[in-house]
Amino acid sequence: MTDTYKNYIDGEWVTARSGETFESVEPADTDRVLGQFQRSTEEDAQRAIEAANEAQEQWQSLSRIDRAAYIEEVFKILEQRTDELGELVSRECGKELSEGKADVVEAIHMLQYAFGNARQPTGEVVESEIPAKDSYVHRQPAGVVASITPWNFPIAIPIWLIAIPLIEGNTVVWKPAEQTPKCAVKLMEVFDEAGIPDGVINMITGYGEDSGAPLVSSNDVDSVLFTGSAKVGQMIQKDVAVQGDKQCACEMGGKNAIIVTEDADMDIAVHSAIMSAYKTTGQRCVSAERVLVHEDVIDEFQQRFVSAAEKINYGHPVEDDVFMGPLVDDAQVEKTKEWNQRVRDLDAAEVLVDRETDIGEEHADGRFVGPFAYRIEYDDDIDVLHEEVFGPHVAIMPYSDLDEAIEIHNSVEYGLAMAICTEDYRKARRARQDCEVGLGYVNLPSIGAEVHLPFGGVKKSGSGIASGKDIIRAVTHRKAWTVNNEKDIEMAQGLSADIFRGSDE
Ligand code: ADP
Repeated sequence: MTDTYKNYIDGEWVTARSGETFESVEPADTDRVLGQFQRSTEEDAQRAIEAANEAQEQWQSLSRIDRAAYIEEVFKILEQRTDELGELVSRECGKELSEGKADVVEAIHMLQYAFGNARQPTGEVVESEIPAKDSYVHRQPAGVVASITPWNFPIAIPIWLIAIPLIEGNTVVWKPAEQTPKCAVKLMEVFDEAGIPDGVINMITGYGEDSGAPLVSSNDVDSVLFTGSAKVGQMIQKDVAVQGDKQCACEMGGKNAIIVTEDADMDIAVHSAIMSAYKTTGQRCVSAERVLVHEDVIDEFQQRFVSAAEKINYGHPVEDDVFMGPLVDDAQVEKTKEWNQRVRDLDAAEVLVDRETDIGEEHADGRFVGPFAYRIEYDDDIDVLHEEVFGPHVAIMPYSDLDEAIEIHNSVEYGLAMAICTEDYRKARRARQDCEVGLGYVNLPSIGAEVHLPFGGVKKSGSGIASGKDIIRAVTHRKAWTVNNEKDIEMAQGLSADIFRGSDE
């Protein structure tokens, strides 16, 4: 028998009204069950929204600095539980141990940033045309925020989408990913222990359509923060746009690329490409599935990339010396294998690395798919060169000059992250100017965000504000406030303020 875990609503651990639960297993060994979790529906979402609404006024009445003190408590407790939660992240979402721990450390950094930021000046003082007037911009909380998060950073992304909204005076209903509910419950334990007032943070586990969609459509939710697939993010953006009175910030996927120039340092280029393609088994929104290599150096690059990819060790994420773990769920396994097969079937593609099933019998119960790489000439009509696979799957493509590389780079609908490996600062600068992305790296992998840097994309990758300090824009509204310090009323733009103009007065 495994344990059954509950939702966290209004400071209480409660079961879902449906009475139904679902299971979470280790993707590296699906026989190992991590627990049973509440299968929440609209009723539970409603209950959580009500609790958040009731708590909001009181929470907003605290000073920003007092609210931040609660977040500092969360930080202290999480810091003590880094190793325990890091291992849970590895087990439940399949990232190797250093990555599991880094996920928790990233959350800790975000908490630190959020509560430190509370003492920074906020708002803006704006000069008025009229010397007697003082104008300034004041921010107020949106109200109730729904945070809907993915499984691949099950501690870090939730903290990105919870800590700053809370400090700004919002209350939150959090819907974590169905693949990582145990991480969510354990993170809620930390908030509970920190003594956050009842109803300020609420969490319901369950599937997206059952328990995420009702948060998006509720009239009592004021802002929606989402990180996940482009398909769901676009649906949320449309839904919110029709409602008209709700704010929304969505971060979605990418079809990210690395550009390797003819003068690149090959050690850096190969190292960066392997990290970008295969770290987290290719399941980061910033993972690179395209490597564009100058035609003069592609043969050398290819030979060295293949030799490294053949050596990558993949296995159970908590084993020692593992670079790559499994894929998170069966749907992801099926999708990655399907795209690999489509590439094998393409006349235009030369498969260079195919370790899809290259793993020992002892891992037969895991969702393992090994590294896959192929060489192909860019062709606009080949769908796999545009679609996000979200697995350890990468295309290596030749180009003849930087104009062409940038054109191929920008040919996709996404625009999240890119890297350029070059020894020529002019080429790096050109990439910065002309590549359509929100994040760029020079002589580095396309992965590796830090919490105090903006994170977000352009085009179909998102609105670019669901992170860091920018998230404040999505969870507050501004008031432009003007004060007259004289007895007379004087208007801007020379507008007359004489209400008795033309009369006998
Ligand atoms: P991924 O491909 O990373 O699993 P998804 O976009 O499917 O990304 O899921 C990200 C989050 O969005 C999860 O918490 C999921 O349950 C939630 N979700 C999925 N579908 C919907 C929906 N229709 N409305 C609201 N949330 C959803």
